[in-house]
Amino acid sequence: MTFVPKTHPRYKSLLNREKVVEALDKGILAKAGLTAHGRGEAFDYLIGEETTDIALKSIKASAAMLVLAENPVISINGNTIALAKEEIVQLAEELNGKIEVNLFYRTKEREENIKKAFEEDSNIKEKIEDNKIKLLGIDDADKQIPNLDSLRGKVSEEGIYSSDVVLVPLEDGDRTEALVNMGKKVISIDLNPLSRTARKSTITIVDELTRCIPLLTKYIKEYKKIDKQELRKIIDEYDNKENLKEMLSYISNRLKNMELE
Ligand code: ATP
Repeated sequence: MTFVPKTHPRYKSLLNREKVVEALDKGILAKAGLTAHGRGEAFDYLIGEETTDIALKSIKASAAMLVLAENPVISINGNTIALAKEEIVQLAEELNGKIEVNLFYRTKEREENIKKAFEEDSNIKEKIEDNKIKLLGIDDADKQIPNLDSLRGKVSEEGIYSSDVVLVPLEDGDRTEALVNMGKKVISIDLNPLSRTARKSTITIVDELTRCIPLLTKYIKEYKKIDKQELRKIIDEYDNKENLKEMLSYISNRLKNMELE
């Protein structure tokens, strides 16, 4: 990885950029994953590169939904692994351990490279061997999401196919819609509040992946200790359309009031 000095004002952003480039070199990320990352960076600028209170509401509702879920699955793609592999494993450990590889550009080679990326970390490998973490969607993606072309719609029976709640960081709109049409509750993480994914999801967290995953884990830990009725209330009081509207006015007010030096 190229050296990025910690004192650089854009340290975190540059580091994430390095991580996606490295994932591309390792055959984990498709080239299009770089442009998807760039779109995310642009929206993060507009948001102010911090977790807003509006996103926090979505994070809390998502945590409640994941705690109440019977068979939650975390869907991952190249960008997610590039940026937040360890954080995703920590999150999965608080749930049922199910992580499913779900690629837009699925090739056997990328699937194997992703498996390798998990197993080269001895800590994660041990967790997979101990069944604390289940890496699905590689050798067992033999079910099909209806109304999607065959490669993009391949899923694991034990994973997304039979899940009730799917967490999809950086998903595309088509697949989100297809999952919702299958009756799944879809929680997406997407910095773009205007995307089809954001609008089609049950809950959209408009925040940067590496900022919000640890927060989601923190609230899941907390919510596991509280009454289920209380969790249902958090979900009932949440309105995704309203949340996205709030996010858009937040961005627009931020821009209107911005002073350039
Ligand atoms: P859609 O099909 O949902 O309308 P899209 O064409 O933008 O949207 P993709 O390009 O597949 O879909 O998705 C990439 C999305 O992920 C973008 O909306 C981008 O804002 C978002 N994104 C990229 N990097 C991050 C990140 N680090 N954290 C959160 N979101 C991100």
